[in-house]
Amino acid sequence: MEIIETPEQMCQWTRELKTRDSSLTVGFVPTMGALHAGHLSLVSESKRRNSKTVMSIFVNPTQFNSAEDFDTYPRTLSDDLQKCRDAGVDAVFVPRTDVMYPDGATTTIDPGSIAESMEGTHRPGHFSGVATIVVKLLHAVQPDIAYFGEKDFQQVAVIRRVVSDLDLAVHVESLPTIRESDGLAMSSRNVRLSPAARIAARAIPRALHRAVDLAVAGERNAHILRDAILDELAYEKLCRAEYVEIVHPVTLAPLTSVDADAVVCVAVWCDDVRLIDNMHLRTH
Ligand code: AMP
Repeated sequence: MEIIETPEQMCQWTRELKTRDSSLTVGFVPTMGALHAGHLSLVSESKRRNSKTVMSIFVNPTQFNSAEDFDTYPRTLSDDLQKCRDAGVDAVFVPRTDVMYPDGATTTIDPGSIAESMEGTHRPGHFSGVATIVVKLLHAVQPDIAYFGEKDFQQVAVIRRVVSDLDLAVHVESLPTIRESDGLAMSSRNVRLSPAARIAARAIPRALHRAVDLAVAGERNAHILRDAILDELAYEKLCRAEYVEIVHPVTLAPLTSVDADAVVCVAVWCDDVRLIDNMHLRTH
């Protein structure tokens, strides 16, 4: 497995591969490390569909809107590299922060209105940071397909928008959320949950499932579905909902009635750890 530290070397790696055989394809899995089975599911799919798989591991400072969140974000690079080797990743791109953001860099990408609701409202600047780093990573890796998790539902929608608006020559693929056995969505931040908060966090998938069940049973009113989620979360003293939104799966426009496919997205504080999750609400 190659470990690559600069965008120039990364570009060169893909270029050499394609020069050898232009029919080879590269799948790319961008991450911030602290790898878990969710990340590795993206790797498996990339390996299934592509000749080579590249993962990036970069804790991107510009997408954190709290210094404490950035400082306490789990960093487990040597374990991560071992997991990449075991999973059959061909190259890992691990640039330093000053390489991705050299002194004097000021250009950022503003994804526009799609990035203003939900996470965008509660984490100002977050998606500008995400969009900027993803475009820089795509530019370095030059993949055919880039893989993202639906766990970060708005992130995928924002990236699809950016890729389309900037005519980037990459296919964006999104894959389902991988969950712990009790339903909690896997997240690098789960390790920061205290034992009590970890138990309380089970309320998140429970609340989402309640809305899914109500929708399947015929409930169309988004306010009622939203209230059902808030009620379920309110049982847990350690949980505090930051937002519960029922939105269109592509535009993320808020819906008042769940007539076709819709997605319910939540952000919930479990004690001092903020978690996000979502589920599709199907009416058939
Ligand atoms: P992160 O390292 O948290 O930035 O995540 C890197 C990629 O893995 C993103 O595309 C995430 O959406 C995806 N991911 C994170 N958690 C999960 C999960 N539980 N299931 C599937 N994909 C995930």
